[in-house]
Amino acid sequence: MRAVQYMSVGDKPRVVDVDVPEPGPGQLLLKVTAAGVCHSDLAVMGWPAEGFPYELPMTLGHEAAGRVEAVGAGVSRIPVGEPVVVYGPWGCGVCRMCARGRENYCPHAAGLGVFPPGLGAPGALAEYVLVDSERHVVPIGDLDPVRTVPLTDAGLTPYHAIKRSLDRLVAGSVAVVIGVGGLGHIAVQLLRRLSAATVVALDVREESRELARRSGAQHALPSDGSALEAVEDLTRGLGAEAVFDFVGAAATTSLARSMVGRDGDLTLVGIGGGTVEVGFESVPFGSRTGITYWGSRSELIELIDLAREGALDVHVERYGIESGPEVYERMEAGLVKGRAVIVP
Ligand code: NAD
Ligand code: ZN
Repeated sequence: MRAVQYMSVGDKPRVVDVDVPEPGPGQLLLKVTAAGVCHSDLAVMGWPAEGFPYELPMTLGHEAAGRVEAVGAGVSRIPVGEPVVVYGPWGCGVCRMCARGRENYCPHAAGLGVFPPGLGAPGALAEYVLVDSERHVVPIGDLDPVRTVPLTDAGLTPYHAIKRSLDRLVAGSVAVVIGVGGLGHIAVQLLRRLSAATVVALDVREESRELARRSGAQHALPSDGSALEAVEDLTRGLGAEAVFDFVGAAATTSLARSMVGRDGDLTLVGIGGGTVEVGFESVPFGSRTGITYWGSRSELIELIDLAREGALDVHVERYGIESGPEVYERMEAGLVKGRAVIVP
């Protein structure tokens, strides 16, 4: 089968031929119907050789949708033929975090050699992908896999981040979204659907600001000092109740920090190397600064239910598998609008 692989550190991804895997005990083999391309892969492919955590070559792609093609011994609840999406942050399955469905925070997974598909295990930018357990798939029925697959990360990650702040986002509150790409445009829609907050979206690109407006943001502004003034005006100088940074670069983390108000939430989701200093005089009283990683199993199930209600309008660009390497180049150049999805 064809697969988009990261071959060696510093190399560009390439499309190569690899064997179709066979499902072992407890595993499922999916015929991939759609696979989303995430900006995090660019961060991974920027890591140095020293301490690189995954075995290479590795098939990329941690957002997967597919039809169950075959199952290994012991798989009993998910039948062959079922259309599903994949929950990616696989945990050990038995610890406290996993018992709560929060496998994204399992502290044992990496030590046990359990890695997400496309981030250590063979990923979804291929014709087939293996899933390690039936608890890691969610049936999607007749939802369009291409427009649903981004929910497994570009949707799940902001859903998890936003849910932590919903108690803040009452009527009259302001929520700021920085970076309106794959994750950010779904974040805007989730904030409008789940909260009463006024949503202010910031991006350096006009196409992304336009996508923010289409996604329901009441304000879509360039990500600079003028945005800070706008947030001050909107909040009568008090600052926002929640700021979600989907870029995470030095410029955006400091902007995010300057926008959050007392008792507000500052959540860093983007992996851009920026930091926020937390100390008695460096963040507002009562504020909570945090980073979030992906989301829980139950949250993915909730999000698929939300999609079934027609609550989300995921913007996708479709590509064939041979275009995989080009998609990463387009993403690096800031040319992708919404989520790029590979249909093998
Ligand atoms: P994307 O490329 O689709 O979108 C990024 C958006 O940010 C684009 O619209 C771009 O124009 C905008 N942008 C870039 N620089 C900016 C700046 N200085 N100010 C404002 N906007 C700016 O990326 P994505 O796939 O949505 O991922 C977003 C970030 O989230 C990435 O850093 C990715 O690695 C990270 N991520 C984190 C998690 C997690 O679990 N924490 C999960 C998935 C992705
Ligand atoms: Zn991702």
